[in-house]
Amino acid sequence: MKQQTLAIHAGYQRDSQGTMAVPIYQSTAYAFRDTDHAANLFELKELGNIYTRLMNPTTDVFEKRFAALEGGVAAVGTASGMAAIFYAIANVAEAGDNIIVAKQVYGGTTTLTGHTIKRFGIETRYFDVQNPTEIEGLIDTKTKLVLFESITNPSIDVADFKTIVEITNQYGVLSCVDNTVATPIFCTPLALGCDIVVHSASKYTTGQGLAIGGIIIERENLVDKIKGNSRYYHFNEPDESYHGLIYSDLPLPLFTLRVRLSLLRDLGAAPSPFNSWLYIQGIETLSLRMKQHSASALEIAKFLENHPKVLKVNYPGLESDKNYSMAQKYFKGGNSGLLSFEVESKAMAQKIADSTEIFAVVVNIGDSKSIITHPASTTHQQLSAQELIEAGISGGLIRLSVGLEDTQDLIEDLSRALERG
Ligand code: PLP
Repeated sequence: MKQQTLAIHAGYQRDSQGTMAVPIYQSTAYAFRDTDHAANLFELKELGNIYTRLMNPTTDVFEKRFAALEGGVAAVGTASGMAAIFYAIANVAEAGDNIIVAKQVYGGTTTLTGHTIKRFGIETRYFDVQNPTEIEGLIDTKTKLVLFESITNPSIDVADFKTIVEITNQYGVLSCVDNTVATPIFCTPLALGCDIVVHSASKYTTGQGLAIGGIIIERENLVDKIKGNSRYYHFNEPDESYHGLIYSDLPLPLFTLRVRLSLLRDLGAAPSPFNSWLYIQGIETLSLRMKQHSASALEIAKFLENHPKVLKVNYPGLESDKNYSMAQKYFKGGNSGLLSFEVESKAMAQKIADSTEIFAVVVNIGDSKSIITHPASTTHQQLSAQELIEAGISGGLIRLSVGLEDTQDLIEDLSRALERG
């Protein structure tokens, strides 16, 4: 089936009432048929509902539908994008291990990897997404994950998937892609050879800025890379916290299963059923929205490119952009609604942001309502001066998340703001 059909139907079997819309199963727990049934579920002899911290029938549709869109085999929903990223890391790395992360990532990912996980004894080594061969020099026997974004936020670089996949496969290291900005409508990292995809579902998934959420998706046959691989001994040795279960021996997708059985069980950042229902509503129109976001962003990027106050525009759909050929290679049908541009100074950038009327000054992306952000003073404010330079964020950088308003109205809004800036 094609992606748009999957977006409408994947993962949902109509119930005995013939309910067309996926129901919201707003329940904490589920009654077992009897104690044997309960024991079978806990022992994984049978799969089914136990407790909403671990699984929920509405969340299950969200997970199956998103996995289908990304071309993955299984998924696990989380309460936020940050929880998804943390769980993807914590599923493979422990004290004494390291992970390799692109310098150009969302600010929350930089603080998580540069500070918070350091307190758990996990080291982060950074590579320049513009120069991914650097990864090779950073890998050692303790390296557990290479993490990057398909389109970086807010420097708007496009990752060179081929090089990253070649290196990670050569060393048997898992690759994990944050595909929040590109979405599976424009880019499917698993089809490009990556192992794990993570998302903030808070962005384009709901599409209207309605709910915080995240998801982790794994590719088919990931067990082939993990089974017998000493880097991932936790998957190959008995898990004492689960009666000696060996994940790589199970006939089930092992990465997301371990997130569910271990991390959701013990840390508990599960999505609420209502939020999962909102993500499902969003997924149904994701492709239609993404095409409009992208078409509008391209027109705005062209307008900005010709404006005398704009020093530089970052949008991979522009032929002049340094990422254009990479986007042509890895993206299909569009380049998302996120772009950034640079003006002379921080003061000018802030004046422009404060002067827009339709674009709202907000720290979010992927909303139907257009958003203007000054990353250096907000989303990336907690980065050091050096981290800001490495993430490609100057004081004069402005990020736009182009919404679904009329494109001409948005251009006029920016034009007026630039005059005042
Ligand atoms: N990944 C990217 C690319 C983001 O832009 C964000 C948030 O802005 C996140 C992850 C974190 O997601 P959440 O806010 O859902 O925790």
